[in-house]
Amino acid sequence: MYLRNNTRSFKVKNLDFGGNDKVYIQSMTNTKTSDIINTIKQINELEKAGCEIIRVAIFDKADALAIKEIKKHINIPLVTDIHFDPELAILSILNGADKIRLNPGNITNKEKIEKIVELCKERNVPIRIGVNSGSLPRDLEKTKEGIVEAAKRHINILEKLNFKNICLSLKASDIDLAYESYKLASEIFPYPLHIGITESGTSFSGLIKSSIGISKILNLGIGNTIRVSLTDDPILEIKAAKEILKDLGIRKDIPNLISCPTCGRIQYNMIPIAKEIENYLSTINKNITVAVMGCAVNGPGEAKDADLGIAGGKGEAILFKKGKIIRKVSEKDIINELKKEIDLL
Ligand code: SF4
Repeated sequence: MYLRNNTRSFKVKNLDFGGNDKVYIQSMTNTKTSDIINTIKQINELEKAGCEIIRVAIFDKADALAIKEIKKHINIPLVTDIHFDPELAILSILNGADKIRLNPGNITNKEKIEKIVELCKERNVPIRIGVNSGSLPRDLEKTKEGIVEAAKRHINILEKLNFKNICLSLKASDIDLAYESYKLASEIFPYPLHIGITESGTSFSGLIKSSIGISKILNLGIGNTIRVSLTDDPILEIKAAKEILKDLGIRKDIPNLISCPTCGRIQYNMIPIAKEIENYLSTINKNITVAVMGCAVNGPGEAKDADLGIAGGKGEAILFKKGKIIRKVSEKDIINELKKEIDLL
């Protein structure tokens, strides 16, 4: 089995991709790519939230041409997603794509594939082959063997052209099918894997399904990047990806929020405070734990164990830092005081 630190490796722009223990967080914009202003705005918001690789759909020529301008205003690697049309792939590479997502088996013109591969070699642009259980070739069954065979056909085309900077995804909306397919692929192919559960649903059900599916796959020790697909704002995909990687212990640079569910003992308006602090922490890359607790029952214990914490009382809270009480804070000042202390950690 090729584990994540044992796959082939290559650069995706400035990132060392594959062959290490890093699992990158990625998402996809949902703006029209040729709407340059809004696409740049969304990418920059996603980057601020923790997105490390961004993919954009290339639907027409205007989208492919827009890449040049978009690239000038963003920092993270940009992946262009192309289906069927080799001209759009060529155009997006010429305009600065850092990586492309393309299934070469869907392109019938052999010369065009050769041209794409030649350009990718020249410009160090890797290719992600993305197999989806919903669009398998007709002669293949929707099984792990069918999905892996579909991947193999695409891979063979690139390998024959001596191209090996390949990333692979084998997505299915069924968790077990996705899990089995990724597992089988990791036993056969030495390429880094892009992990995701496709068409997983809205931010509530999709989040649960993605968390279960992606975690099962990552726990095999495979997977070099993840995308949580949600029918919602892509910012939520990034937040979810960070939580998954943090909770699995794969990423240590993501803050941890502990907060109680609240109960009848609560004497201050805690829920908005916990949410605000969670939002604030999502913009920070520090290995810290912050506890927002409702009362004196479990509050002081959790708050003491955290790097920073509050245990609420009536209209006020006790602030703890590294296990010690530092001061009492009135309810209206809790958010600002916590943010100030987080900045100092
Ligand atoms: S910490 Fe206090 S308020 Fe929060 S759930 Fe526990 S007992 Fe209830």
